[in-house]
Amino acid sequence: MAKILIVEDNALNIKLFCDLLAAHGHQPEAVTDSRNALDKARELQPDLVITDIQLPHVSGLDLIRMIRKDDQLARVPIMAVTAYSAQGDEERIRAAGAQAYVSKPISVMRFAQTVDELLAAPNAEDPTGKSQESWANEGDGGPGPGEAGGEES
Ligand code: MN
Repeated sequence: MAKILIVEDNALNIKLFCDLLAAHGHQPEAVTDSRNALDKARELQPDLVITDIQLPHVSGLDLIRMIRKDDQLARVPIMAVTAYSAQGDEERIRAAGAQAYVSKPISVMRFAQTVDELLAAPNAEDPTGKSQESWANEGDGGPGPGEAGGEES
């Protein structure tokens, strides 16, 4: 399960992306107003950011650049989604700092596959993969080291 931040101003797309990601076992969170996106990303520390390019206020390209300049977020994978893919768009998007790019209307399979690839890609640092954090499983304050069974040879 991955935390995925979606920045998208279109309600139908938000629903589509969220449903799709949730169906793949992820935890999507959407921001409609791109002016709030950077704060939300800092708060959420997502495993992946999916951003629309055509956004009012702060464009997707500007948002990507802002994320890349942010100390805490600089290494988060970014997937751009865009309705108009003119010549050179992909280059601009990649130059801004996104790893992947999917055009709208999205192909559900390509969307899901790209998400999987980005989540699987090793981060620039820390190849040990901190993706599998083990939450919970610890009772409330029980002191004992609760190893079950396990004989030593
Ligand atoms: Mn849009």
